This record gives sequence, structure tokens and C-alpha cells, in this order.
Amino acid sequence: MPEGLWMRCPGCEHMLYKKAVEKNLHVCPECKHHFRIEAATRIKYLADEDSFQEILADLTTDDPLGFRYRGTTYKQRLKADEKKSGVKEAMRIGKAFIKGRGIVLAAMEPNFLMGSMGSVVGEKLCTAVDMAIEEALPLVVVSCSGGARMHEGVVSLGQMAKTSAVLAKLDEAGGLFISVLTDPTTGGVTASFAMLGDVIIAEPGALIGFAGPRTIAETIKVELPEGFQTAEFMLEHGFVDMLVHRKDLRSEIAHLIDYCQR
Ligand SMILES: [Zn+2]
Repeated sequence: MPEGLWMRCPGCEHMLYKKAVEKNLHVCPECKHHFRIEAATRIKYLADEDSFQEILADLTTDDPLGFRYRGTTYKQRLKADEKKSGVKEAMRIGKAFIKGRGIVLAAMEPNFLMGSMGSVVGEKLCTAVDMAIEEALPLVVVSCSGGARMHEGVVSLGQMAKTSAVLAKLDEAGGLFISVLTDPTTGGVTASFAMLGDVIIAEPGALIGFAGPRTIAETIKVELPEGFQTAEFMLEHGFVDMLVHRKDLRSEIAHLIDYCQR
């Protein structure tokens, strides 16, 4: 058997035929484990065919701190991840249609510095929100992120305040923000825009949290409950409004837009 045709599911340990997983929207046919997908695939699954009109695709960061980590500069890392992912930053934004309804769509790219939020992701998110306000369109943001980007230090942390402030403006304008949390949604992204949705949807099994479980356990010296930081746990404890299987996301979002705006 040629290598690379099969993969092991981390959810149920079954050996899966890769093509069958792809055909199933990158969801395990056995246990419904939702695999991580790149932004382009996410957009393809969510938006009407060829409707996504991307903006600011060429926006790149300045490396404000001249950051270097273990002999690699931030600039080298950015170049390497651009090559790996085919995009220049960890978020893609643009207008799109979803079952014929106009939206502003933002999708995070896990293959670019683990979907981390630096100055460019913050700026793109804010531009998307401004566009949603100006054109009175619903905003849909799909998060997939390791959190704030350490390479940009406080500039990165500043994006948490910036994105939260602009979302408050969207709220004042009566806009609708649907936030979709996918595996993983963590750190500064969870602590800012991802949790500010009017409706917060999560994909089943997604890791959602701020700090990692080990950090929390060591800091507050308690044993954490089972399933802590899963989408299911978040739903049970009121942090998430609904769990939606990937195959139903399009129709659920279209349904929510109709419900909230008509
Ligand atoms: Zn599985």
C-alpha cells in the first residue's frame, strides 16, 4: 500500500482512507472527529461557490520588535509559513454569500504561525467589522488559533483591545456577529473577539480555552474536571450557544441570519 493514502484518527484510532475523510468535509466517518482545515478549505465549505472576494490578502507585518527565537528571526518564520500555507497571514477576510445571503467572512489559517493574532490579524478583523457596519452585512468569523502572537509582544496583545472595541461599535450599530469556534480556539483570541459573538457556535470536540489545562492546574492547584475545555463542556457551562457539525454549518448560519435579521 503506498504511503500517505491512510491516516489514523486521533478520536477513535481507526485507520481512515484519506480520500474518504476529505469527501466527508474532513470529518472522521467513524467517530465524527473534526479535523483541522486550512482557511481556503473552510471558505470553500462555508461560502457559496466562487462567491468569496478576498481583500487585504497582501497585508504583512513589519516585525516591530525585530524578534528572534532560538536562532530564527520572526521574518524567516513568516517566510517559511507563507511557503507552507500559501497565504501571507493567519486570517483571510472578504465578502461572500452563504446560501444567497451576503456576509462578511473572516477565516483563520492554522498553518500560518498556528493561526496566531498579531497586528495584521487584528487589522484584518477590524477591517471586516468596519465593512460589516458600513454595508449592514452579518459578520461571520471562524476562529482557529493558538492565541496572541508572542513574536509581536505587546503589539499583539493590543489587538485584543482593538478588536473588542470595534466589535462594540458593530453592536451599537445593531449588527449581527456569528462567531464560529473550531479546534483550537485559545489564548488571546478566546479572550477577545472569539467570545464576543451574538451567537457563538462551536464544532464538536473543539478545544476552547484560554491557558492550557496544565498551566491552570499548576496555578490554582485543583484537579480539572474531565472534558475540561472541550466544546461540549463549554456548551454545558454556557460559554457556547450551540454545537454544529461541519456539514450543517452553512444551513445553520443561513438560518441564524434569517432569524436575527427578519
Ligand atoms: Zn475517528
